[in-house]
Amino acid sequence: MDDKTDALVLRTADYGENDKMLTLLSAERGKISACAKGVKKAGAKLSFAAQPFCFAEYVFAVKGGRNTVTAASLYDGFYALREDVGKFYAGAVVLEVCEKLACEGEESGGLLVAAVRALGEIAEGDAARALVKFLLAALDGAGYCVRAEGCPVCGEFPAGRMRFDFGEGAFTCYGCSDGAPASEATFFAIREAQGRGEGDGDGRRRALRLLKAYFTEKTEAALTALDTFLDMGA
Ligand SMILES: [Zn+2]
Repeated sequence: MDDKTDALVLRTADYGENDKMLTLLSAERGKISACAKGVKKAGAKLSFAAQPFCFAEYVFAVKGGRNTVTAASLYDGFYALREDVGKFYAGAVVLEVCEKLACEGEESGGLLVAAVRALGEIAEGDAARALVKFLLAALDGAGYCVRAEGCPVCGEFPAGRMRFDFGEGAFTCYGCSDGAPASEATFFAIREAQGRGEGDGDGRRRALRLLKAYFTEKTEAALTALDTFLDMGA
C-alpha cells in the first residue's frame, strides 16, 4: 500500500549504515515516523528529503505499519537557515515546538501551516519576531491563548511594570495579579506579533523568555533550542 502526504521533517536520526529514521509533521496524521533508505550514500536521490526543515510531498510504502519513503517532491528546504547560525537555531525552535505539541494520528494542519510560514519568515526576516508570532500561534492552537490587551482584572490598559498571569494567559497591571513580572517592552512585542503596533528587539527577546516559561508551564516540556537561540544573543 502507498500513502502520500505533505510533511515537514522535524528530526532525523542515523539508522544502520546508510539509512535515516525521519520524524515528520503532516496535516492529516500529525507526527509520522518513516525510514529513508540509502540516503546516507553519496549522490542518493532522496538525501534532500532526509534533512531537517525539508517540506515536501512524501510518498511512503506502508508495510506492517512501517513507512518507508519511496519518493518526495520538494516544496521548500529553507536553505537560508543553514547559512546563518542564529536563523538555524530559530528554525530548530520551530521544529522542537512541533515535536513537543504534535501527536501521532492527530490532525495538525494548523501547526504545520504555522511552522512552514515561520520557517519562511525566519529565512527572510527578523528571526525573533517570527518566533514570537509562531509561539503565539502554536500555543493558541494547543488551547493556551495569550492576551495582551486590557487588564482582565480592572479593565485598564496595563502600562509600565506589569505582570503576566499564567493562569489567565494575560497581562495585568502590576498590582492586579501575582503573576510573573513583565516589562512594557514584552507586552508591546506580543502585541506586535498579533498585528497590533510595533515592538523592538529587546522586547522580542523578553517575549521569547516569557513564552518559553509559559510553554513549559502548560505542556511540561522544555524548549532547549530556544535557550540556545537566546544565549547566542542572535
Ligand atoms: Zn489591572
